[in-house]
Amino acid sequence: MTVDFTYAALPMSVRFGSGALTCLADVLDAHGISRAIVLTTPEQQELGQQIVTQLGTRAVGLYANARMHVPIDVADDAIRYAADLGADACVAVGGGSTIGLGKAIALRSALPIIAVPTTYAGSEMTPVWGLTADGSKSTGRDPRVLPAAVVYDPDLTRTLPLKISLESGVNAIAHAIEALYAPDASPIISLMAEEAIRAMREALPALQADRADSRAREKALYGSWLAGACLGATTMGLHHKMCHVLAGTLDLPHASTHTVLLPHVFAFNATAAPAAAAAVARALDVVDPVAGLSAFIAGLDVTHSLRDLAVDERDLGFCASAVVETLYSNPRSVTEADVEAIVLAALTGDVLTHPNP
Ligand code: NAD
Repeated sequence: MTVDFTYAALPMSVRFGSGALTCLADVLDAHGISRAIVLTTPEQQELGQQIVTQLGTRAVGLYANARMHVPIDVADDAIRYAADLGADACVAVGGGSTIGLGKAIALRSALPIIAVPTTYAGSEMTPVWGLTADGSKSTGRDPRVLPAAVVYDPDLTRTLPLKISLESGVNAIAHAIEALYAPDASPIISLMAEEAIRAMREALPALQADRADSRAREKALYGSWLAGACLGATTMGLHHKMCHVLAGTLDLPHASTHTVLLPHVFAFNATAAPAAAAAVARALDVVDPVAGLSAFIAGLDVTHSLRDLAVDERDLGFCASAVVETLYSNPRSVTEADVEAIVLAALTGDVLTHPNP
């Protein structure tokens, strides 16, 4: 096998560990930040307020109105508020929605972001931003939105409800799988991707058995860090495209949509990406990666079909053409009929077998 790749490391620092939140002030000092605005969703306002208190004079205020998919009016409001406060950085505490708001602020005002992730979505490791205006979400890549530093404290994930924890963990597995067969995959990213899937394979069933298992929380957050780094370094394929189109148009929850679609898209792609499929098999400790991934997700207390998300077959007519028209890279070519077959399988949750391309 020839080894031939391009790889660029992203410039950021990471502090990981139980209790790491206590180092947040030191992280701000190391980056010369003295007037931070703390961002959260309304649901995590109390945690945001605790962090404002913990940061003392380094924090100038709390903006607790982050929302899913970063609506442009919320971004505008937060940018104005940060400017009024004279903020010199954002501390984004939460999942992809809150970190996404930090990115929208950074894109327009160049404030650096310090991210404190509390889900496994992985946005903190990527230079990818998203903004929603008039019901349509645009995304892009810009180095200014990559957080300067990330503080991972597994203790902060204890409050994440079990179902969201498991679905967010499967979201991380999806990043790792698509990184394994990405056109810009590289040996180091493939190692990280395989390890991310392995960490989630160990962590998620343990979390399901005991939501308070601190070792499992630590392992899941470790897996999400690796998977997020894979997402940030590579170009995602059919799975992410389908999730983007379906969740964006039908306003479906992000992690649930990933969880429902992943076994179906992987069943479609696996035969065209044998090295990636072999890595998934090793990580899951199974012989058949497609059946193994499907059984792994089936064993979790998560959403298993689009019907469980209240999607009706009549809602899905737009999907195939929308996906195929603007498809990202993918290991095998995709027709509208392929997308229709995948979406119909996801509607019921029955995984199809796909012949070799
Ligand atoms: P989320 O950020 O929307 O969080 C879901 C809910 O859980 C929110 O109400 C949040 O306040 C709450 N929550 C989060 N952590 C919690 C905790 N520890 N305890 C209690 N409640 C908690 O969900 P998400 O799945 O993390 O992020 C989804 C969004 O992130 C989507 O908009 C997606 O497009 C985006 N995303 C972007 C990237 C990127 O690279 N740009 C990567 C992944 C996801």
